Amino acid sequence: MTDFKLSCPVPAAPQKTVTLGHGSGGLLMKKLIRDIFLAAFPDPALHDEHDGAILEPCQDKLAFATDSFVIRPIFFPGGDIGSLAVHGTANDLAMCGAQPLYLSCGFILEEGLDLEELEKAARSMARAADEIGLRIVTGDTKVVERGKGDKIYINTAGVGRVITENPILPSRVRPGDAVLLSGDVGAHGAAILSVREGLRFETQLVSDAAHLWPQVRALLESESEIHCLRDLTRGGLAAALNEIAEKSGCAVAVEEELIAIMPEVEGACEMFGLDPLSLACEGRFIAFVANGYQEKALAALKGAGCAAAIIGKVLESPAGEVRLKTHLGVERILDAPSGEALPRIC
Ligand code: MG
Repeated sequence: MTDFKLSCPVPAAPQKTVTLGHGSGGLLMKKLIRDIFLAAFPDPALHDEHDGAILEPCQDKLAFATDSFVIRPIFFPGGDIGSLAVHGTANDLAMCGAQPLYLSCGFILEEGLDLEELEKAARSMARAADEIGLRIVTGDTKVVERGKGDKIYINTAGVGRVITENPILPSRVRPGDAVLLSGDVGAHGAAILSVREGLRFETQLVSDAAHLWPQVRALLESESEIHCLRDLTRGGLAAALNEIAEKSGCAVAVEEELIAIMPEVEGACEMFGLDPLSLACEGRFIAFVANGYQEKALAALKGAGCAAAIIGKVLESPAGEVRLKTHLGVERILDAPSGEALPRIC
């Protein structure tokens, strides 16, 4: 007779960590959903405990975006994977000129994850969504075996209401557009790096992770002619400028002197041979504004609390090229980063 062991996926005692049974679709999963997710997320649509959410119709155009979050560590100075998973997708909607309205969240949990950590991340998610009136209306939970994941991965998808008449798209960027930057760059990437490497600075490096919708709304309501918006995530400012230059078929010229970088971020970059212009942000964006509207747009961003600046302009050619005038007054091509210097940054 062959030896075999029987195991029960539903442990008898109350659990302090995620078990495979929490992804079983049975009683343990129901308990996890009720105790953590329904307790954190108050939306009535979610509390219907239905297969999906039924949403009110909207007369405006809709924007739809999705993003996945695998950041390590899951808690960091200035945020955590929960708030980041809300900011990330809400910011992508904002970049489409859309007010973020609805969010779905899918959790992939690793067996052994501390339930307290999950609860903390879920509550942080709820707070971040509440800040801009974004409703978490549907979700999903799966559990993978110990060692087959890393604590928590989250996917969010969001729907937003487009409030602009003209579309906000890379292809609308024109020669003569001004390039506005909403604040200093690289703080998110440097903050994650400092935690991973145990770096100490005089002041603690804090991620810039934040909602961009309030700033974008102020910009759109200023009636400036906005051609394109792009949030600076992986690959930072350098990646975003190159993406827009390539897609629009224009050139972009920016000046290093006009781009704000905190001394601690510069310091961390020097130590690790990184370029702050390629370092991720999670609460900064660039706006391409039609010539003649840049001062109005700048005033609107400053009025919304941004340390915004005009950092350059769009040129006719060479198509797809980004040029940087350095502190020394020399012009060089600012390439898109070729790989990922800091993996799992968001
Ligand atoms: Mg984006």
